[in-house]
Amino acid sequence: MKFTVVKQSRKSRARAGLLETARGVIETPVFMPVGTLGTVKSLTPALVAEQGAQIILSNTYHLFLRPGADLIARAGGLHKFMSWDRPILTDSGGFQVFSLARLRKITADGVEFQSHLDGGASHKFTPELVVDIQRKLGSDIMMPLDICSAPDSPKAKVAEDLRLTLEWEKRAGEHFAAAAGAPDSAQALFGIAQGGMYEDLRREAAQCLAELNFSGYAIGGVSVGEPEEDLYRIAEYTAGLLPPDKPRYLMGVGLPQNLLRCVPCGIDMFDAVLPTRLARHNSFFTPAGQENLLNARYAEDFAPLAADCDCYACRNFSRAYIRHLAQAREILAIVLLTIHNIRYLLNLMRAMRSQILNDEL
Ligand SMILES: [Zn+2]
Repeated sequence: MKFTVVKQSRKSRARAGLLETARGVIETPVFMPVGTLGTVKSLTPALVAEQGAQIILSNTYHLFLRPGADLIARAGGLHKFMSWDRPILTDSGGFQVFSLARLRKITADGVEFQSHLDGGASHKFTPELVVDIQRKLGSDIMMPLDICSAPDSPKAKVAEDLRLTLEWEKRAGEHFAAAAGAPDSAQALFGIAQGGMYEDLRREAAQCLAELNFSGYAIGGVSVGEPEEDLYRIAEYTAGLLPPDKPRYLMGVGLPQNLLRCVPCGIDMFDAVLPTRLARHNSFFTPAGQENLLNARYAEDFAPLAADCDCYACRNFSRAYIRHLAQAREILAIVLLTIHNIRYLLNLMRAMRSQILNDEL
């Protein structure tokens, strides 16, 4: 994997880049639609590609539990299994272990948990196993096992979580490097900077990770319920400490207002489940903000969802029609709103990239 900054903005820390992977070149800054279970909910992979998605995100924890990494490996890897030939980033499952699973026991070796599926069976993630799972999935960008501290954790606990996370990341890096020479191995491993809302811990994380020389660096532990200003403060502060020649990925962040604030901080990659989740709750993006189609004022609104949007939904249907579908609980409402929300974010990123290239951002 090779990352090139093609333009550094003179007016902010924003940059336009190219991330070259074995499955294609990704233009950054980039938004990655989320396909947690190996599907971007309600869309075929062809439709996801048609919206302009260059890379999607999928989830190690969920795929490990169901249908299982070995089954996906026997199917030829996740790309083939789900029929998506562009890059895939898989997250480590750490976030899900700490948010979904029960009875978590953290030891120096890893984390034991009871899944939220299969009758609460016990599992254990170690840094090495999580790399191995992602190898089986065949993801283009892997993430190491980390501990996502609760937003209300005291500083001493966040610091303890960070130290263990950094040890795990070192082990993940060594395990990854040991098998990196394999002929089928074009995969990359990123590091994740944790440290909660504490700038000194974020600095420690960034410094330690830079020494481990990952292919890219993520900022984790945000978008976990903290005030929005804390998210921006930590994203900007941490991004400024990460190596400038590697991609920077802000995990779990991707609403339009977030992208507008965080691209100028020098973030290159974003993901969020919200665009697809909001669509399933009849919400859609407009330049004026997020709207809900069930609002009575849209009953006879024959305008498109967003005036300047070029998505299939906006080119062909009115708010009144999609609202009618939503009220009748027709599946097409979800499909059209998902197409719109994803296209809206991808268009926003393309526009921002073009502004960076022209020194207008
Ligand atoms: Zn649209």
